[in-house]
Amino acid sequence: MLFSFVTLFPNLIKGYFSESILKRAIEDDKISIDFYNPRDFTTDKHNRVDAPMIGGGAGMLMTVQPLFDTLDKLKVDSPEAHVIFLSPVAKTFTQNDAKRLAKKEHIVFVSGRYEGIDERVIEAHADELFSIGDYVLTGGELASMVLCDSISRNIDEVLGNSDSLSVESFENTLLEAPSFAKPKCYDGNEVVSEFLKGNHSRITDLKRGLALYKTKYFRPDLYKKGTKDEK
Ligand code: SAM
Repeated sequence: MLFSFVTLFPNLIKGYFSESILKRAIEDDKISIDFYNPRDFTTDKHNRVDAPMIGGGAGMLMTVQPLFDTLDKLKVDSPEAHVIFLSPVAKTFTQNDAKRLAKKEHIVFVSGRYEGIDERVIEAHADELFSIGDYVLTGGELASMVLCDSISRNIDEVLGNSDSLSVESFENTLLEAPSFAKPKCYDGNEVVSEFLKGNHSRITDLKRGLALYKTKYFRPDLYKKGTKDEK
């Protein structure tokens, strides 16, 4: 899978791929990344990529020409590329989106800055738009990394142990059950004693019950959906 980042600030993103699982995924050729900076495509003699809003409004927008030319070039090089714009007005990205998008060959993330992106760019070039939550960030770079990380771990062989995916939160609508690791007791805090007895079917039942409780407490919306799906 190739991930292309369209951003005015590639250095904000590069560091994230220089450590840990995504670094290894690049070294193992499971994913690759590249960058397109709209500033390299601007025809403005002062190298500008922003302009004031037409009709008034505070702040500047990322303007049409640099982004049109960047995305036209990307589409010529890779006609099948799936173009995603990051935007707070879009639907919220979910685990199901991550799994679906992990099957693509090439995903392009377009990050806005300033007060966002001229709507004509989005209308002409977006295959999909995603928000990462109901709050406003200064730019789309963090959001694009969130999507890229979540999609990547659903690509075959990116995670060392792919079994861990099947029991994770959101897989069966519910949240993951509480987990424990050694030591059995720390500073008087013990792990759930049943987990120590080695009866795996009992532990599976117990984890299922704990996952239900946890989901009901933290995410009553998911609990309702998860238990309704089972009926
Ligand atoms: N004026 C816009 C509005 O009120 O909807 C906000 C623009 S924001 C300051 C600049 C850029 O950050 C956006 O174009 C988008 O790419 C990104 N961004 C901000 N919040 C986001 C969110 N919750 N999810 C995804 N991207 C976001």
